[in-house]
Amino acid sequence: MNCPADTILVLDRCAACGSRDSTPCVSRFNKFVTYERVPDEASMRYDYALCHQCGVVSARRRPSGKRYDWLFDHFEETIGRTSENPVLSSAPLTEATRAQLKRLASLGVFVSDHAGVSRKEHLPALLVDRLANSAHVEIIGSLIPLRGARVLEIRSRLGGLSSALARLYDADCSVMTMFENQQYLIQEVYGMAASCPIDFDDFSIPFDGTFDLIVGKHMFTHAVHPRECLATIRERLRSGGHLYLFSEFVEAEFLDEPHSMFNTLNPFHLQTFNTPSAARALGANGFSPVFCTIVDGHLAGLFRRTDDFPQASERMPDDERKRRERRYRVAADLAVLQMPEPVRARVAAEWDGALERSLANGTAEVASKGRIKVRAPKDAKT
Ligand SMILES: [Zn+2]
Repeated sequence: MNCPADTILVLDRCAACGSRDSTPCVSRFNKFVTYERVPDEASMRYDYALCHQCGVVSARRRPSGKRYDWLFDHFEETIGRTSENPVLSSAPLTEATRAQLKRLASLGVFVSDHAGVSRKEHLPALLVDRLANSAHVEIIGSLIPLRGARVLEIRSRLGGLSSALARLYDADCSVMTMFENQQYLIQEVYGMAASCPIDFDDFSIPFDGTFDLIVGKHMFTHAVHPRECLATIRERLRSGGHLYLFSEFVEAEFLDEPHSMFNTLNPFHLQTFNTPSAARALGANGFSPVFCTIVDGHLAGLFRRTDDFPQASERMPDDERKRRERRYRVAADLAVLQMPEPVRARVAAEWDGALERSLANGTAEVASKGRIKVRAPKDAKT
């Protein structure tokens, strides 16, 4: 691996709201700390801080520029995923793949199991994407008028959400995809305008004009410059238009469950939050919450573009801050204890303290042969 040393951004304020008030280093590391091979030593240090104003936890050290591009180009290995699935592949679209995808997509989305067509002869991922997005179609369609709306969908997997809005409401949809294969399939299957790739470091919208609704999947979590990204989105929404964010990664994943915080904070997860923090951060960027919920463990939220912006933003209550600081300490200790054996030396300085505190609060116990068993941190005696 040959990761460019430039550029690591070092932020002295919250990436989401700009406040300087924070609890530093609620997690020092991202997922790289659990890997035996890493791009370089600096790549595992993100120094996530908890903002006292909006409550978002953001990486205070984060890659940008050439360094970000390199990590993104090595996306699958960076997040520890290797996929044979052409739909999830970041590989450039070749003539051979194009022909293969065209052939597979020609059978369409609804290929019935009773027809006896092998799953290798069509693209079951198209239906999976339709069903996976139907919950969001239900939420958006129930809460705001969409008839004839102009819609932009950012980070669409296979156009499932936009195709439903077009079918149900005659919405005029354009989509942005991460990978060329997805762009090609969406154009081929649904005939929608599709662009690729998405620059999370220098975000821009490659379509003209304004939109009634902009949908972003897992965007806020990934944005290198969330305030600029939200400003770009806001600029391209008509007055009173809506932003719907979904599949946003929430801290409950490691504060409530015994999942290692290091493991869940992959190197592209630059922000994490609870629902009130996400709502406050969006508020600080000119959006007021209409409806937020959790779908499949992830935040989904509908926000309206506010006209009176900027205005004083809401501050996280002290009791919420203290509770979350405590819970982050518990989760950080558990993440240390869950470090894989071969790389445990990286947390040697933290190990004894983490073990002592976790045994005391009941989130860890020493099992046979000195093996450490961990329990859900939500039950910690703190
Ligand atoms: Zn903040």
